[in-house]
Amino acid sequence: FLLIRHKKEKKTRTLAVAFIIRQQQSSPGNIYSIPVAMLRTVSCSASLSSSSPFFRFFRHFPRSSTAALRGPSRNLGRISSPSAAGRRVFLRRGLRVSSAATAGGGGVNGQFSRFSVRAVATPSYPDVGQDEAEKLGFEKVSEEFISECKSKATLFKHKKTGCEVMSVSNEDENKVFGIVLRTPPKDSTGIPHILEHSVLCGSRKYPVKEPFVELLKGSLHTFLNAFTYPDRTCYPVASTNTKDFYNLVDVYLDAVFFPKCVEDVHTFQQEGWHYELNDPSEDISYKGVVFNEMKGVYSQPDNILGRIAQQAISPDNTYGVDSGGDPKDIPKLTFEEFQEFHRKYYHPSNARIWFYGDDDPVQRLRVLSEYLDMFEASSSRDTSKIETQKLFSEPIRIVEKYPAGRDGDLKKKNMVCVNWLLSEKPLDLQTQLALGFLDHLMLGTPASPLRKILLESGLGEALVSSGMSDELLQPQFSVGMKGVSQDNVQKVEELIMDTLKKLAEEGFDSDAVEASTNTIEFSLRENNTGSFPRGLSLMLQSIAKWIYDMDPFEPLKYTEPLKALKARIVEEGSKAVFSPLIEQFILNNSHRVTIEMQPDPEKASQEEAEEKSILEKVKAGMTEEDLAELARATEELRLKQETPDPPEALRCVPSLNLSDIPKEPTYVPSEVGDINGVEVLRHDLFTNDIVYAEVVFDMGSLKHELLPLVPLFCQSLMEMGTKDLSFVQLNQLIGRKTGGISVYPLTSSVRGKAEPCSKFVVRGKSMAGRAEDLFNLMNCLLQEVQFTDQQRFKQFVSQSIARMENRLRGSGHGIAAARMDAMLNVAGWMSEQMGGLSYLEFLHTLAKKVDEDWEGISSALEEIRRSLLARNGCVVNMTADGKFLTNIEKSVEKFLNLLPETPSGGLVTWDGRLPLRNEAIVIPTQVNYVGKAGNIYSTGYELDGSAYVISKHISNTWLWDRVRVSGGAYGGFCDFDSHSGVFSFLSYRDPNLLKTLDIYDGTGDFLRGLDVDQETLTKAIIGTIGDVDSYQLPDAKGYSSLMRHLLGVTDEERQRKREEILTTSLKDFKEFAEAIDVVREKGVAVAVASAEDIDSANQARSNFFEVKKAL
Ligand SMILES: [Zn+2]
Repeated sequence: FLLIRHKKEKKTRTLAVAFIIRQQQSSPGNIYSIPVAMLRTVSCSASLSSSSPFFRFFRHFPRSSTAALRGPSRNLGRISSPSAAGRRVFLRRGLRVSSAATAGGGGVNGQFSRFSVRAVATPSYPDVGQDEAEKLGFEKVSEEFISECKSKATLFKHKKTGCEVMSVSNEDENKVFGIVLRTPPKDSTGIPHILEHSVLCGSRKYPVKEPFVELLKGSLHTFLNAFTYPDRTCYPVASTNTKDFYNLVDVYLDAVFFPKCVEDVHTFQQEGWHYELNDPSEDISYKGVVFNEMKGVYSQPDNILGRIAQQAISPDNTYGVDSGGDPKDIPKLTFEEFQEFHRKYYHPSNARIWFYGDDDPVQRLRVLSEYLDMFEASSSRDTSKIETQKLFSEPIRIVEKYPAGRDGDLKKKNMVCVNWLLSEKPLDLQTQLALGFLDHLMLGTPASPLRKILLESGLGEALVSSGMSDELLQPQFSVGMKGVSQDNVQKVEELIMDTLKKLAEEGFDSDAVEASTNTIEFSLRENNTGSFPRGLSLMLQSIAKWIYDMDPFEPLKYTEPLKALKARIVEEGSKAVFSPLIEQFILNNSHRVTIEMQPDPEKASQEEAEEKSILEKVKAGMTEEDLAELARATEELRLKQETPDPPEALRCVPSLNLSDIPKEPTYVPSEVGDINGVEVLRHDLFTNDIVYAEVVFDMGSLKHELLPLVPLFCQSLMEMGTKDLSFVQLNQLIGRKTGGISVYPLTSSVRGKAEPCSKFVVRGKSMAGRAEDLFNLMNCLLQEVQFTDQQRFKQFVSQSIARMENRLRGSGHGIAAARMDAMLNVAGWMSEQMGGLSYLEFLHTLAKKVDEDWEGISSALEEIRRSLLARNGCVVNMTADGKFLTNIEKSVEKFLNLLPETPSGGLVTWDGRLPLRNEAIVIPTQVNYVGKAGNIYSTGYELDGSAYVISKHISNTWLWDRVRVSGGAYGGFCDFDSHSGVFSFLSYRDPNLLKTLDIYDGTGDFLRGLDVDQETLTKAIIGTIGDVDSYQLPDAKGYSSLMRHLLGVTDEERQRKREEILTTSLKDFKEFAEAIDVVREKGVAVAVASAEDIDSANQARSNFFEVKKAL
């Protein structure tokens, strides 16, 4: 996703307000399984983004105006977000926990956890005998049973090439394969990133344009993507279906070792860069998927800061350049350099391969030997070694500019962050764990001192780029703020240093240490990786050491070092453990880089002008023949891109048959009962002694004008404290006794009803024995928190503004989609009020009001509480083993008895909408987000399961080919919300604007002209079923079931939809064409784009857009 850079997942610990987002609805049955885009962006996170990988495609999880999206983000963030991923290695060790675990934010799931630590008898897994391995060309290097993940792991070495293979066997049906190559770049032309995109564009055995897309369309994968780190490139796949899994493995292996892109310059041009000239009389422009992806990255200040920090902290090795590609440098890359890079590094001798799951370990080696035996050993393993950055003897300081909008108070837009490279040598596991622990103590929750002191200082709006990271060769630590005025830059630096000194001198509060310990242990036990396969999470942990020729087993075995660390804390006290770490690695470490970033309203247009002048020079240097040739080449590339693969070529990409697909949806055990008149849903599932609970309140009595205050109401509940407990104490209590609590609003249309579903959700989890504490704490949050802290509320507002602004730049497609939804239906309007552009406007007004009328705001927050809290209309949802479900009932009953019977105030009718009109939202950016949407139910269309197949097909063919491949955008997709009927088109990091709208408008004709054979159809059906049956951990199953209950989706209906999906025919496509024409005829368009592009669009199409300034 990655398109969505959810960047910040982990650090979300900050604040936790959930916003809107859109979620993939392509799964009729289980709509809610995937959270979408980011929600709680956390301002502080991610920005070390240059250490985070780039993903091959933007895995959009577009909306469905349904609930979940507006609910908490689960883990996707991490994965899908390139920026998130790079940051947190410690997490991977189980240490870092999602903020949610303690803080108020959405994620109730600690994502990084791993398998339970419970001791288990060593089960026996199929073994690969030494002889068998030898016969296949491998030697067994070592083998261990890893109790943390209940797996037997064997490290093999391919004798001929030296390729290393980790073969992990266990009972997990969600099998994972990954091949990882060390790919250190020497410059910022983005070679590794462009190659990562390109190798999946056809190979020796699979000579079609994009086998990757064929897999996206027609496999049951539970994960499929590729990512580029600063020093390595990963190609992972996952599936629960064994046949499907090996199909994916074969396509990936062939792609990595035998790609067509090294012979065919067209792929390089399409994915990397090329000059585009449609007519010799026009201007030349740059096009390319990676080129535009990176322009988007370089339009976001947090990202720019992250890249500068990364490069400045390691100027002497490969981390001193950008593996993703700087748009200024990408056009310097030649095809020959590109070919050479593949030859050099994409070799078995430089590869590490990971297999994980319940499949046959002998089969793994068999498949690999076929490929590896074709190669001789090479020296690539030596030439790809990553050099160590020597530590500086003096701190350095860097001042840079970033592109800012002209509006707003530029004086308050500086950013500053302080970064340390912690060590030249790799650290032992216990020190790493201790640093991860320290990170959580300093920054992990809103109550953590470093975070709290910085935010309360009022010196800046939000944290940026903060936390430990050990995913690259040398660990680092950063902390910084954005939204800082020029005069305060120095003060922020001083405050950071003073606070670190103070923490080293005084140590941490024992309740805080206990809360962090419990949070970390809970997350280890829960091992909740959300929709990210557990095997992939383990692979990324292991590879973080293995890639540097260290022990691949070690990162998986945290139990002993964690026990030892805990014992030390008990024996010596936490101060003796943590203070020396702060002193040694941070305070007394001269390898410190301070980065200051200043806003520059000229920079965006300057960069555009520079690019233009380079292109003008290029053109001026060309003869008429050259220009004619370039126009011809442009046309040739376009034709090639738009010509579909012949059916016989497509047939070579392996796919499943319909007979491989289960005929029934997965059912979640569900029992509906009641306690004192309140509806209670119970799901009896194995959860490793954890209880998951949701309490859902109705928003039906909330006054309209209070709606935009709801997200801040949620944050206030989590972060204001009660009469007896400060918010720090309250957060520590939650950390000590539970696995996390979060509160958030949730809205969705309900099919066939005018009234939307609008709820307020409290979500929490704890060990079964602590369920009573969990419900007591929920009660305390809901009923006892006092809305009296004006200063904290002010911070919430400024953090929210910073977060929304970041979202506008980074996820403009989400803002555009929310805006269109708000014009087309009531649920969309509600959601936009709480998380869209309207919300941002509200926040700006509110920021002034906090000073003028705090009394009024405080009593409005009280009024929200009175309108929401009531037993009437409440629903409780519980997921755990049956025996615990019964035990918990008493706690639930007590909780419910403490609630008022009915809400104050009468029922209100929700009927708001934004006026229907085409809007362009101006932001400083080099790439646009373009959307168009309409309600297809308004044409009389009645929902049929085929709609899911068709919309997926439109995304994967028509939009992929036109918007991404030939248009040059990083992503283009459509999304159908089956609850509201809204069908929307969206693009991501798009160099075009009107042209993209024209493509959307052509969709009906595309469908009418479509001629799909049975094989293509089968593929589309299987791919859709893959979405519907997406893999879920137990908490997600219980949550999905609750969502279906709230929206009135029955199991009978799911079965019927499934049958409709399975029997989708060409006729359905043609009929759908008529419905989708409504988007062209009556749809609304919303673009988030640069002023220049909006101006020219309005000139070309007589004021098509109403213009709105946003940044
Ligand atoms: Zn990419």
